[in-house]
Amino acid sequence: MMAKATLKERQDKRFINKETQTAAKYLRRLEELSGAPDDIEPFYNALKRIYVDMKSVETENKTIGTYCVMTPPELIYAAGAVPVKLCSGNYTAFSIGDDIAPRDACPLVKAIAGFKQTGLMPVYEDCSMMVIPITCDCKKKIAGMLADKFNTVTLHIPAKRDDIDIEMFTDQLYDLMEKLEDVTGNAVTYESLSEGFRKVGYAQYELSEFIRLKKQMPYLIRGSHAMAILNAASYMPADVWGKALHKVNKSLEKNIAEKKTVTSKKLPRILLTGSPIVFPNIKIPLLIEEMGGIVAGDETCMGERGMWDPAVITDNSFDGMMRALANRSLRPCPCPTFADNSQRIYRLKQLIKENRIQGVIYHVLRGCLVYDFEYKRIEEELGKLDIPVIRLESDYNEEDIEQLRIRIEAFIELIKLKQAPERITTVRKSF
Ligand code: SF4
Ligand code: SF4
Repeated sequence: MMAKATLKERQDKRFINKETQTAAKYLRRLEELSGAPDDIEPFYNALKRIYVDMKSVETENKTIGTYCVMTPPELIYAAGAVPVKLCSGNYTAFSIGDDIAPRDACPLVKAIAGFKQTGLMPVYEDCSMMVIPITCDCKKKIAGMLADKFNTVTLHIPAKRDDIDIEMFTDQLYDLMEKLEDVTGNAVTYESLSEGFRKVGYAQYELSEFIRLKKQMPYLIRGSHAMAILNAASYMPADVWGKALHKVNKSLEKNIAEKKTVTSKKLPRILLTGSPIVFPNIKIPLLIEEMGGIVAGDETCMGERGMWDPAVITDNSFDGMMRALANRSLRPCPCPTFADNSQRIYRLKQLIKENRIQGVIYHVLRGCLVYDFEYKRIEEELGKLDIPVIRLESDYNEEDIEQLRIRIEAFIELIKLKQAPERITTVRKSF
C-alpha cells in the first residue's frame, strides 16, 4: 500500500507544479510571439532548464549566487566558480514569500524569501556562497534572512561614488576574493583574474554587437525576445552565453542584409526602464508587444544594462585590475540606490536618441521605493523632450494584467496618434 503523502510533500508538489507551469506558460508566450531571431533556442533552453526542469546551471564548477549587477563576475570566474544571478521574478515563490516578508516589501525579495523557505530550487540550493550588495532596505533584510541558511557575503554600496568610496569598495572586493578562495579552494592569481576579464569581456563584446545591430535597423528584433536572451545570461557561463549570442548576431546581420524585419508596420517604439524585469515576470514587455508596440530599448538590470559597462584597466597590475572592477561596479551604474543619479537621465536621453524612442514606460515593482523616487524627475526631464512617459506599477501575480493591458494600450494609441502610418520592409515569419 502506498504511504500517505505528508502535508509537506503535498505542499512541495503543489509548489513545483505551479512554478513550472507558470514558467512554461511564459516561455510559450515568447515562442508564440512572431519574429524571433534564428538561434534563440539556447537562451530559451537555459530559462527552461532553471525554471521548468528545475535543474541547476549547466557547469561542473561551483556556483556563486549574486543579487545585483554590482557584484563583479570577473572575480568569481577568477576563483574558478560561475556566477548566477538570483534576483527572482517568480510568482509562486512570491506567494510564499508574501507571508514571510512585510506587506510593503518588494515582490523581488519576497520571491527570494519564498525560494529560501521551500528549499526546492536547485539554482539557489546548489550555490556555494551568495553575494548580496546592500542597495536598499529590502536587500539588507533579505541578506539577513538568507544568512540563516546560506553562506553569504554582503557588500556595502556607498551613497556616493567619490574616490574614497571606490577605495573602500576595492577593499571589500579584496575581502570577497579571500572568501571566494576559501569556498572554491582556488587562489585568485594575476592569470586567473585576467582570464575572468577575458571571459566577461567576450560576452560584453557580443552584447555590444547585439545592441549595435539592433540600433542599425529598426524592428530587427522584438524587445521581449531580446529580454529573454539577456535574462538567460544569469544562468549561463559568460563564454557559453557569448558564443550563443554570436550566432544570433550573425543571423541578425543576415536579416539586415536581406532587409528582414519583424513587422511591416511602423510600431510605436518604447523604452522600458525602472525596476528589474526578471523571468518569468516578463508580462510587461509581452503586453507591450502583444498590444502593438515594440520594446526598442531597455534600461533595466536584467536587460541591456546588466552587462553593458566593461571594466577599464588603466594600470596593468593585479591591484589595478581590482580597482578597475570597483570603478566599473559603482561609477557608471545608473541604479537609483545612489544619492546623485543624474547620469541615469543622461543615459535615458542617450537611449531615446539612439533607438528613436517615442515613449517611455517606467516600471515600478510594488514597494520599490528607490525607483519610484526617481520617477518624478525623469518625467520632468522627458517632458522637456516631448517624450510621453507612464509609470506602471506591478506585482508578481497576474491579477494586475488587465489593468496593465488597458494602460499600455492607451499609451500605445497615444503614440500612434502622433505618428504617420508608414510601411517598411519584408516581414519575417514566426520561427
Ligand atoms: S536595480 Fe540596482 S540593486 Fe537592482 S540589480 Fe540593478 S544595480 Fe543592483
Ligand atoms: S531595488 Fe527595488 S526591486 Fe530591487 S530589491 Fe530593492 S526594492 Fe526590490
